[in-house]
Amino acid sequence: MPALEGLIESGEATAQQRAIINKAVQVADVFRFKLFNADAQMVLISDELGKPLEPGAKSDHNGNAQKVLETGNAIIQLNDGTQKQNRPDLYVEAYVPVVSETGAAIGVVEVYVDQTPVSNLFRSNFLELAIALGFVVLASFGVPFAAYIIKMRQQVKTGEKVKLLSSRDQLTGLYNRATFFQKAEEARQLGHLDLKRAAVIFVDLDNLKAINDSFGHKAGDEFLRHVGNAISGLLTADDLAARLGGDEFIILTADRSRIEISELIENLRQTVSLPVRIDGMALTGHLSVGVHVGGHPELTLKDRMHKADIALYQAKLLGRNTWVLFTPELEEKIARRQFVEESIVGGFANDRFEVHYQPLIEQADRRVVGFEALLRLKDGDGNFIPPSEFIPIAEDAGEITKIGTWVLEQAIKTAVTWPERFFVSVNISARQFEDGDLVETVQRLLEASTLAPRRLELEVTENTLIESEEEITDQLVGLSKVGVSLAMDDFGTGYSSLGYLWKYDFHKLKVDRSFIKSLSDKDDKSRHVLDTIISLGHRLEMRVTVEGIETEAQVDALSTLSCDQFQGFYYGVPMPARDLAPFFLEKPNSGLADGILRLEPVKKSSG
Ligand code: C2E
Ligand code: MG
Ligand code: MG
Repeated sequence: MPALEGLIESGEATAQQRAIINKAVQVADVFRFKLFNADAQMVLISDELGKPLEPGAKSDHNGNAQKVLETGNAIIQLNDGTQKQNRPDLYVEAYVPVVSETGAAIGVVEVYVDQTPVSNLFRSNFLELAIALGFVVLASFGVPFAAYIIKMRQQVKTGEKVKLLSSRDQLTGLYNRATFFQKAEEARQLGHLDLKRAAVIFVDLDNLKAINDSFGHKAGDEFLRHVGNAISGLLTADDLAARLGGDEFIILTADRSRIEISELIENLRQTVSLPVRIDGMALTGHLSVGVHVGGHPELTLKDRMHKADIALYQAKLLGRNTWVLFTPELEEKIARRQFVEESIVGGFANDRFEVHYQPLIEQADRRVVGFEALLRLKDGDGNFIPPSEFIPIAEDAGEITKIGTWVLEQAIKTAVTWPERFFVSVNISARQFEDGDLVETVQRLLEASTLAPRRLELEVTENTLIESEEEITDQLVGLSKVGVSLAMDDFGTGYSSLGYLWKYDFHKLKVDRSFIKSLSDKDDKSRHVLDTIISLGHRLEMRVTVEGIETEAQVDALSTLSCDQFQGFYYGVPMPARDLAPFFLEKPNSGLADGILRLEPVKKSSG
């Protein structure tokens, strides 16, 4: 008790206290707790141990701690976390008083408990459960709360507390996280478990959220039980399994061969995919699984779990409903992906995004007529991460709309400073159509900058149309009405379906650079293909740009084809806006030998 009093006073947890706190947080589904002192000032937050609290973070923002100190009664709230970051969909926030031996309230513990998995059970019992959890935290500090229990006895059903503190997951009957670690350690000490021969299998139910959303939490719970039963049914006495929380399960096999492990996983996947009847409905589900076997003998169970988790992450990236065995290369790949994702998420705060501009050349007079805006992302060392790598990750991470809007804004603001004869072309990701407000965004940005709409071109790829055909049609029409020009980018790399060209009113077709690569004077075939695409574009009243022109030979080979615009390193690499000035000096009909201004020497793309 003096230790806790000291902690409340100083807010500085000793190493031992930190260990206790971390353990307390692992019990059940406590995902965070905070400690307030007798003045209702926050002194500690469990996931920021060792970091000084920011001044603003100290206050008792909703006054609950103060109320608890005054009344001595707990406050328990059930919260919807679906709109908040880093919160479970359903969680409880409980403010429980810390009482001294004399019965005076000397502080408040605020506990956050994840209730997603047990929400139904919880809705009826949350008061008891949350109070019991407050006790878990207090008990971890050795607070003699007998006096407190007496005070609260009317409200707390001891049975619930016992259930909560027991070793099993209430829903599935499997071990819970804490017991899993404990049992694994016991097995290791007794010589039943040699981690070198063990396999860690992470199992994740793919569609729990969909089941919950469509059929209710009761069906979700029922389905989790189905998975739990499937796992239990496949275990031998040497295996250990637990539900780690939410839709995540773990199996630790002591000594199965690789073939046996894959059989176990296949059996499990098959069992789970069988439909179960819940409330008269037949529900099916799928699993994503990540496995770690072998590895360095010194790896701890936690290390191995981390690696199995990486394999699970990869299984999810592959589209779920599959299983992946951990490899060191995978670890590198995922680490790189996480690095890129972090660079993206912190990109604006760290000023890591830039827009570069690549000249677009009119074939008729070989003069620069516009620029394509190409996004650049610097990593911490100042190197550029290529867009082909970071754009798909930004799309997956749900960041692309924000970034894409920023690119649009930059490009428009920049283009308005150019002489009027230049246009700017901006790439739009399929995801940017999802919110349905792209037309308004474009209109708003154009109005704010006074850039004439005809000076803005938007590029979408064919895949964009395939992915979200429904929501896109009206928006493309809307954009056309605003007066911007539409280009189909990378034509020839996707389905190259005539249907899309025909159905939508694109003003321009950009032929992917793979076509120019194989073009040479001697190769008639690729020439015919290119010629056909260009004619097709013209037939459909589109202008045609050929991308990726790198050499004079390619320019020559193109000279007898009737494409309208050129783009490529030969004419200019993507460059920062400040380097574009020489292009603006060029006057129309300037009489330059070939009518274009080239920056020599042409350097490789900054991307
Ligand atoms: P894209 O829209 O087809 O852009 C043209 C790409 O070809 C650019 O690559 C450009 O640097 C490269 N390129 C141009 N001329 C040549 C050449 O002569 N030879 C070769 N080998 N490459 C050339 P970058 O900048 O790496 O961008 C790659 C892709 O990333 C873009 O392809 C576009 O799909 C996407 N992207 C770039 N910026 C954005 C953006 O702001 N938003 C979205 N959604 N996508 C973007
Ligand atoms: Mg493009
Ligand atoms: Mg392209």
